[in-house]
This record gives sequence, structure tokens and C-alpha cells, in this order.
Amino acid sequence: MVVTRFAPSPTGYLHIGGLRTALFSYLWAKKNGGKFVLRIEDTDKARNSQEATEAILKAFEWLGLKHDGEIEYQSKRDDIYAKYIKQLLDEGKAYKCYMSKDELAELRETQMANKQRTMYDGRYRDFDGTPPEGVEPVIRIKAPQSGEIVVHDGVKGDISFQAEDILDDFIIARADGSPTYNFVVAIDDALMGINEVIRGDDHLSNTPKQIVVYEALGFDIPKFYHVPMIHNSQGKKLSKRDGATDVMAYKEMGYTPQALLNFLVRLGWSHGDQEIFSMDEMIELFDPKDINKSASIYNTEKLDWLNSHYIKNTPNDELAELLVEYGLTLTSHDKKEILLDALKERAKTLKEMASLAKEILTTPTSYDEKAVKKAYKGNAIEILNNFGAKLSAKDEIHLPSEYHHLMEEVITEMEVGFGKIGQPLRIALLGKMGGVGLDIVMAVIGKEETMLRIANAISANS
Ligand code: GLU
Repeated sequence: MVVTRFAPSPTGYLHIGGLRTALFSYLWAKKNGGKFVLRIEDTDKARNSQEATEAILKAFEWLGLKHDGEIEYQSKRDDIYAKYIKQLLDEGKAYKCYMSKDELAELRETQMANKQRTMYDGRYRDFDGTPPEGVEPVIRIKAPQSGEIVVHDGVKGDISFQAEDILDDFIIARADGSPTYNFVVAIDDALMGINEVIRGDDHLSNTPKQIVVYEALGFDIPKFYHVPMIHNSQGKKLSKRDGATDVMAYKEMGYTPQALLNFLVRLGWSHGDQEIFSMDEMIELFDPKDINKSASIYNTEKLDWLNSHYIKNTPNDELAELLVEYGLTLTSHDKKEILLDALKERAKTLKEMASLAKEILTTPTSYDEKAVKKAYKGNAIEILNNFGAKLSAKDEIHLPSEYHHLMEEVITEMEVGFGKIGQPLRIALLGKMGGVGLDIVMAVIGKEETMLRIANAISANS
């Protein structure tokens, strides 16, 4: 069975790079009928917060990513780590190192002066003398001092590391007994049965160390997939300004979960030239062997395009429910179908959709001065009055096409161009230029409200 995991350190919000590896891990587990474990790596007590864990869970909930089983917290597993530290000490695979901070600093300086790699020199590896007084030892693992460590990476192929170039007897437990990062990650992955690790390639340099731990403890080494980073359009690491923000900020900006997930699955993974993937298709088609070897480029236009696609394909009832979150509550009078059908064609985000809808549904209380100056001249008032009179004479008028027809009647009769009615009418209805078709606005707000807005504008602007 394939068991994958997402293992965030709860030091802040969940950002999209993290979410992407979570998604890849989720898809791969689901595709194989396996399990997707969520493990909170909360060992760094100074930097971790409960809010950050909650933020991650909230983001998962919004996106519909469900982990299997209970959430695992590293902070609750100290006894387990202590047991394995003891085991390695008993087996002579780890040892106590009494080197003081000053000694370490001195060693470092000498190595730097000699242009050597700075590393621990193994001076306590075979120590059997009397330990110095007053020094709490750290525990170091006996790492191989020569030979190769090969990471069989499903994305990058085999990567060999020379032990002497990258390893030293690294610390697995600090002087206060607390275990270190690479040690606990390897233990957890092994004990939780994680056999496929998909994570960012910023972790690649940790992998040889984790392999040392797996081997020392006799655990099976999982399959690794190190996913290249996401870059901005300048080819630089994604920063906050480019969109490396909190995943929940995408919700606030009005993106749908489907669009964001679809966007992320294509950042660094492809299936032919297909762009649109439903969740079912992602699960069916995703394979980490198709993850690109080079960094992927974050592209906001693509995200907007996907978001429009999903908005257009969401039934209006569902859209109306989603829009409540953005401050738009439609009532039965609001001609939901006409309104949302029209806005779907224009809005790139749910937020924009809600704000366009509110503009239509709110009676203007002021008018854009510049636009008024331009539009309310010549016989504009007369044209509006004429339109108002024609509208008032209609017993039944509902459809955008019927409103359109009425506007045409006025321009034909008064021998003016469409702009001569369009501009003053738009300002009367919306208070400013721009926005969706006037026929749609009027069909949505209805005859009475249209007449009221025309009358208001005439009295304010003539
Ligand atoms: N906790 C690590 C992080 O948040 C991830 C560890 C891993 O995936 O191995 O960057």
C-alpha cells in the first residue's frame, strides 16, 4: 500500500509551495488506494504555534483535502524518539559528545583558516575516558566516513553524495535530550509506514542524513520524490509579493478551491497539454514520475483563467451560496439567473463577482462627477424622460431583450446614437460608467427600481 504524508512545521500559515506538495502526496495516495498521513512537525517549541496548525487544517478543509487517520504530532512522540536514541547508544551506533561550544567554535575557526569543510571531527567517536565535568553531552550518530550515499529520487534520478563531503557525525539529540530534525523525520516516516515521500527539493540535502538514520535503525528507506521549487516570472524563488502567501488569502481574493488545486497540480506536473483537471481526473492521472525536473513558473493569468473557467461552470445556486462569503446575499427578487449568468462571463474571481453584483443591486446615492459632466448635456434629460415614460407605460417587462428593445425605440424615435441614451442611463443606474450591459442591469433590478433610479438621476443632475 502506498502511504504518503504531508509534514508541515507549524511556524506560520500554509503557503502554496507547501500546499502543492501536500496535493501531490494526497493524489498519489488516493490514486493507489493508499493513505495520506498528516504529521505536524511541532518540535521547535519556540517557533511553533497552535494557530499555525489550525491555519493548516482550515486550509485543508477549504480545499477538501482529507488526511487519513489521526493527525500525528511530533511533540507527543518524545518517548518514542528517546527509545531509539537509547537503542543506538546501546548498539554503539551513537555516542555522547562532550565537546563544549567554545571547542566547537575553535574547531570551526581552524577549519575555516585551513579552507577545510567545517564539520565535527569525531573526537568523541571512540572516547572511553572520563567525561569532562559540567558538560551535558549531545548525542551524535556514527555516520559513514567514506563511500557514497545514493538517493534514488523518483524525479531527479539517482543522486550520489560522497559521505566525506557532506556528512559528519551529526547530532541526533541535543544536550537537553531533545531530538533533532533529521532524526525524528526518519523515525516518524519509518514508524508511520510512509513509503513514498514527496517533498520540496529544498529538503534534498537532508535526505542523506535521514538515510543514515534509516540504516542505523534497520528501517526500510522510502522512495523519495524531490519536487523542484516554484519560481516567479523572473526565474527567482517565489516571494510573498508573487503569491507565496497564505493559502487562505486565495480564498479571500475570490479563488475557488478547484481553480487553486488545478493551478497547483500543473505547477511542475503535466499530462500532455491538458490544462483542466477535475479532482477525479487529477487522482486518475497524477503520477510523480511525471513531475518536471526543472522549477515551475507561477503565473497569475493562468490562475485567473482557471478561476473564470470554474466560475462559469458552477451552477448558479451553488455560486449564490459561495458568494455569501463575499458579502452578497441574493434574495428571491434578485433575478439570480440573469444576474449570475451575466457576471460569470465577466468576473475572474468570486470577490469581483460579488462586488459587481452589489454595484447593480444598490441604488446609487452619488454620481461620478466627471461622467455626469460628459453625459448629462444636450438633450440627455429629455432622452431619459422619454425612456422613463415608455417604461412606465409597460405593464409587463422582464427580459434583458425587452429592455434593449425599449432603448432602441427611444434612439430611433429621437434619431440619436446609442451612446446618447447609454451613457446617461448607465450613470443613472450605477452612478458611474463601466459594468455589465444595461439591459441586464434593468432586468435584474426590475421596472420600479429602474424608474426610481432614472428619476433620482434626473433630479440630481439637471
Ligand atoms: N517539516 C518540513 C517543512 O515544513 C517538511 C519535512 C519533510 O517533508 O520531510 O519544511
